[in-house]
Amino acid sequence: MTTTLLDQIQSADGPEILDPATGEFIARAPQTSAADLDDAVACAVRAQVSWAATPDPERQSALHAAADAVEAHAEELAQLLSREQGKPLNGPNARFEVGACVAWLRTAASIPVEPEVLLDDESGHAELHYRPLGVVGAIGPWNWPMMISVWQIAPSLRMGNTVVIKPSEYTPLSVLALVKVLNSALPADVLIAVPGDGSLGKQLTEHADIAKIMFTGSVTTGKAIIKTAADTMKRMTMELGGNDAGIVLDDADPAAIAEDLFWGAFINTGQTCAALKRLYVPDSIYEEVCQALTEVAAKMPMGIGLEEQNVLGPLQNAKQRDIVARLVDAAKDSGARVLIGADPDDDAAGFFYPATLVADIDPQNPLVTEEQFGPALPIIRYTDLDQAIEWANGLEVGLGSSVWSSDVARATEVAARLQAGTTWINKHGAIDPRVPFGGAKQSGFGLEFGLQGLKEVAQPHVIQR
Ligand code: NAD
Repeated sequence: MTTTLLDQIQSADGPEILDPATGEFIARAPQTSAADLDDAVACAVRAQVSWAATPDPERQSALHAAADAVEAHAEELAQLLSREQGKPLNGPNARFEVGACVAWLRTAASIPVEPEVLLDDESGHAELHYRPLGVVGAIGPWNWPMMISVWQIAPSLRMGNTVVIKPSEYTPLSVLALVKVLNSALPADVLIAVPGDGSLGKQLTEHADIAKIMFTGSVTTGKAIIKTAADTMKRMTMELGGNDAGIVLDDADPAAIAEDLFWGAFINTGQTCAALKRLYVPDSIYEEVCQALTEVAAKMPMGIGLEEQNVLGPLQNAKQRDIVARLVDAAKDSGARVLIGADPDDDAAGFFYPATLVADIDPQNPLVTEEQFGPALPIIRYTDLDQAIEWANGLEVGLGSSVWSSDVARATEVAARLQAGTTWINKHGAIDPRVPFGGAKQSGFGLEFGLQGLKEVAQPHVIQR
């Protein structure tokens, strides 16, 4: 009899994990006690000494071998991810996420990291080296549990650190299965998973032997972690929430951009940090953009993730479904016009909420100014581009943003005026493992991906003579 990954990671007790599409029981997740967390960190501290001494080419090979292992288990990982997180197998969802894990592992393994000569003249010579930090504590969310874990794990390991990772309590099985597969190719104890809730995460952020916290999650939790981690002067990367604006310019072609606009907003059923969460459209093409988006939304099947035809799934949990419902209901009550959706089936077993487009909404409505993190997009009408830019920049967060136009030069000028970590032109949320990604304002600090991302999990060390 073959043992599945789920057989290997589930526990006899611990919290029940239910399928968000059906309510069916999947498995019980193991829980790490406070004492076990201390043991895990101690193991990672010991393993880090030899891992840091391992030549870089060997660390690179180990990461490629880990990527091979993920490829070998890709379908099993995607199925478990779909059942636990809810995202469909197809579309930019579960199979895509597992593929992204492979791509990010291989890219983190491949980018050259060389010492930089800063100064070399008659006054002297200075070089900047990048040393390992020690043990990285990684804490993640439930929306892209496998991919975001790899964003934290791969660069940390490449740079000679070991990792203790605490998955979200909503999606522990996905991360435990991924870690199991990665560890089949990695030396013992360089990567240790510690499933548990926020209190275990807090313990990790307090731990004296953790050198750096890589955190992806909400702004509120990020602020709590910054305070806790101050006592031990931990390094931090904070990838926090956003409320990304997209601005359509009046020369855009509504039919040509509609599908990309849709997926910019509804990727992973809207549960994406850098998804398009508010769309500003000029009066002159407002109705055409609304019409084109509605036509795209109407043809996207939503349902149980394991059913191959679906490309939209449920919300991962009841709390998030209720946030979306509350914001859409308030928008409707305010007189905004629902183009499609907003009428959930209360008898459905899972946490489904239909893909929803809301037009003629006040720019200060909570569906616009709060992060909905689900399948509901407000479309705000504007007549003055400067006003639209001011609205786009008017929030405390600034993760991504986008400008949509037939004129790339004009779009680039508008992009330069937006306050965000990334501004995409004629697309939204298109991340790439070679291109740094991070937030502006309260969306966080520090960069992930690319050479910059590798440097963020290293201690800069100047040697000067
Ligand atoms: P969350 O902040 O509720 O939880 C994230 C993680 O933090 C979980 O593992 C949780 O157990 C842990 N945690 C909770 N309290 C803690 C504490 N006091 N100390 C340490 N850890 C603690 O976020 P979520 O609901 O899982 O994720 C959704 C949010 O994450 C959204 O706001 C979204 O925009 C954001 N997000 C950002 C990015 C990005 O790259 N910027 C990516 C994905 C999600």
